[in-house]
Amino acid sequence: MIIMQPALREKLGWIFLVKAAILVVFTVWSVVASRPFCRVACPLGAFYAMFSRIRLVQLSFDAARCNDCNACHQVCPMGVRVTDSANDPECILCLSCTKTCRTKAVRVSVGGLISGCHQRTTPSKI
Ligand code: SF4
Ligand code: SF4
Repeated sequence: MIIMQPALREKLGWIFLVKAAILVVFTVWSVVASRPFCRVACPLGAFYAMFSRIRLVQLSFDAARCNDCNACHQVCPMGVRVTDSANDPECILCLSCTKTCRTKAVRVSVGGLISGCHQRTTPSKI
């Protein structure tokens, strides 16, 4: 529409160009990386991150079960290393790491109660 109507094009200011540039940057960035807007620009995410230590649902990491396979790091869309920081402020609780961890070293904890405690498996190199 902007291309077709020169009169409309003249009314556009520099703010439009800045917005368009931001849109292009995040669109291209989204193709090559996971959730760039959530990771670097989302104000809501920054607000929620303040409550990561006191939220009801948390992640629990048991180093004794971990075999350092790195699978949880590879699936995390936020680039969180859950083995180093189980309740990282960047974590969005997508639970991909808990589903990927074959030794159940990373699990969900609700109100301090860890789910699946009975499923202990022996860590082994996978
Ligand atoms: S997927 Fe599980 S076993 Fe592998 S590094 Fe992560 S926590 Fe450790
Ligand atoms: S729950 Fe999702 S965002 Fe959080 S550490 Fe695991 S994979 Fe990353």
